[in-house]
Amino acid sequence: MGSFDALVSLCKQRGFIFQSSEIYGGIGGFWDYGPLGVELKNNIKQSWWRRVVQMRDDIVGLDAAIIMNAQTWVASGHVEEFTDPLVDCKQCKKRFRADAIAHNTCPECGAVGQFTDVRKFNLMFKTYVGPVEESAALTYLRPETAQGIFVNFQNVLVATRKKLPFGIAQIGKAFRNEITPGDFIFRDREFEQMEIEYFVKPGTDEEWHQHWVEERLRWYIEDLGLRKEKIRARALPKEDLAHYSKGTFEIEYDFPNKGWAEIEGIANRTDYDLKRHSQHSGKELTYFDEETKEHYIPYVIEPSCGVDRIFLALLLDAYHEEEVRGEKRVVLKLKPQLAPIKVAVFPLLRNRPEIVQKAKALAQALRKDFTVWYDDTAAIGRLYRRQDEIGTPFCVTVDVQSLTDNAVTIRDRDTMLQERVPIERVASVIRSKLQL
Ligand code: ATP
Repeated sequence: MGSFDALVSLCKQRGFIFQSSEIYGGIGGFWDYGPLGVELKNNIKQSWWRRVVQMRDDIVGLDAAIIMNAQTWVASGHVEEFTDPLVDCKQCKKRFRADAIAHNTCPECGAVGQFTDVRKFNLMFKTYVGPVEESAALTYLRPETAQGIFVNFQNVLVATRKKLPFGIAQIGKAFRNEITPGDFIFRDREFEQMEIEYFVKPGTDEEWHQHWVEERLRWYIEDLGLRKEKIRARALPKEDLAHYSKGTFEIEYDFPNKGWAEIEGIANRTDYDLKRHSQHSGKELTYFDEETKEHYIPYVIEPSCGVDRIFLALLLDAYHEEEVRGEKRVVLKLKPQLAPIKVAVFPLLRNRPEIVQKAKALAQALRKDFTVWYDDTAAIGRLYRRQDEIGTPFCVTVDVQSLTDNAVTIRDRDTMLQERVPIERVASVIRSKLQL
């Protein structure tokens, strides 16, 4: 089994990711994050938010509604442009993206030259607001979070009195009725985006574009800990640019199952969106430059990434199989700060009530500071392996000696070395190891 398949299976078994509505046979392109998945996902989002909002003076946050006035999507160009070319196989009736048909052969049934003409298919999910399903009530689930930012440009500007360059950041769900969802959580129909719209003075946009490519690469390498050689930025050729883009870089990860693929797009959207919203709404969406005394529409650089794809890249990057004393050890070498569980606590002997009680009390005390997992359902070697598999950086074991010396062992996930630490110092030792 390759590392991709092994990881997919681990995700299900250990409660990172489940198929959505699995007991009914599932539904393509939708996934549920389990007990460990939700922790890891939150840690990824928190790391991003901390770096791009909390640690900076020039970016503020936003949480806009998923459903917006339908005019938003007319103005943004999505009603007209957000389409994929589609063909149907006349033989097996399956539908494909036109670019997925190699040599005019159906990938499903093998029929040759049996396709319908190419039609355009809009990827936005439609819905109706209110009790009547009529065209006036029609709107869409947002296919990107960005438009919630653009329509709030003036609100944020007035409320915060920010000066250019400044940005607005947002994390939230996006929905695309992808024709071929797949590669596990790589291409979903419901997913989560983390987007920044960084507004700049026209003419400084290319410099800022370059800056953001470098800054975003730093986040992946320094904060998420992805291996340098597995990540790269690539400028898209002109013919691949979206309708709004003057230039786009893709940040790509080298996935074991499919090679280099996009995890983030960093586009120079120029003044396209604000201009279009200004035209369609009749509202002025300009910035007054106090230095030059001019009103103008800023340009915008957009670093836009998907939480789910990053989640997948991160787990694949962290997944290791090692041999330890003749046995296979699976270990997720996640950066300790990102690990879903920071500390696991075990009693060495589960039939000794004094040890169990001490271990449970320690686990409870540590919960104030960390995500903790208490386990006494197997022998110690097995308990260590279970935690290695989910990336827990520290395992604390209460043993017989702990009853007299009031000390415990802390085992390190990567080196597997153990050190003995007085119980009252466990929290501070772990905190310093986590560099909190
Ligand atoms: P692709 O070419 O793979 O369809 P895209 O260029 O349409 O992606 P963008 O519109 O640039 O993607 O969206 C920004 C980010 O959102 C992507 O880099 C990706 O991480 C994430 N994303 C986009 N579509 C999906 C999807 N269907 N499932 C999961 N994540 C997605």
